[in-house]
Amino acid sequence: MDIAKNLEKLRSDLPEGVKLIAVSKTKPNDAILEAYQTGHRMFGENKAQELIRKQPELPADIEWHFIGHLQSNKAKYIAPFVSMVHSIDSFKILKIVNKEARKNDRVIPCLLQFHIAEEESKYGLTEADAREILESEAYKNMQNISVAGVMGMATFTDDSEKVRKEFKKLKSIFNELKKNYFAEQPEFKEISMGMSDDYPLAVEEGGTIVRVGSKIFGARNYG
Ligand SMILES: *Cc1c(COP(=O)(O)O)cnc(C)c1O
Repeated sequence: MDIAKNLEKLRSDLPEGVKLIAVSKTKPNDAILEAYQTGHRMFGENKAQELIRKQPELPADIEWHFIGHLQSNKAKYIAPFVSMVHSIDSFKILKIVNKEARKNDRVIPCLLQFHIAEEESKYGLTEADAREILESEAYKNMQNISVAGVMGMATFTDDSEKVRKEFKKLKSIFNELKKNYFAEQPEFKEISMGMSDDYPLAVEEGGTIVRVGSKIFGARNYG
């Protein structure tokens, strides 16, 4: 795996303004440093325990993006340093991230994760859940999170029309929320969608952040 070359190829594929998160889950620090040395700074992890272990061992100017289901008892460990939580999949976890961010005197940018795929197992909010959150008093009083957009994962399938439809769905959810709740808030601007196999489609459909792992670091050693 030539990590530097993979990154260069990806960067040249992505339109300007689309952010690339290098998803380093399961990968060792030396692989992360190889990417870092090309100038890359945005990395993504999906398990709090793994992130907490890696973060102090790696350069402090890495921007860590948390992209997996966050357990409520783990939020306090990542709150001091995490750059963005992509995976707000319940009101409960948003409240906890806000509380832990406050203890650290920070504002943590968060994305609302929507369930757009067919698979049962994927986490995420429904549109009704999002409305309930955004219209609540509790949300309006949150000072230590900033809702910066939406995130979603498409169905794992070769059927690109299906994947495209799911990305279109996420984009339309984004537009709807923007219009109804964030019209005056420029920080609500991100659509985090697209992985190694489907990022070109995600970008065509309006994705602003892609999360790419195996196309940079090689296949992972688990299913
Ligand atoms: C693992 C993971 C990715 C990256 O997956 P690849 O197919 O290796 O690019 C992106 N997003 C999330 C939420 C992930 O867990």
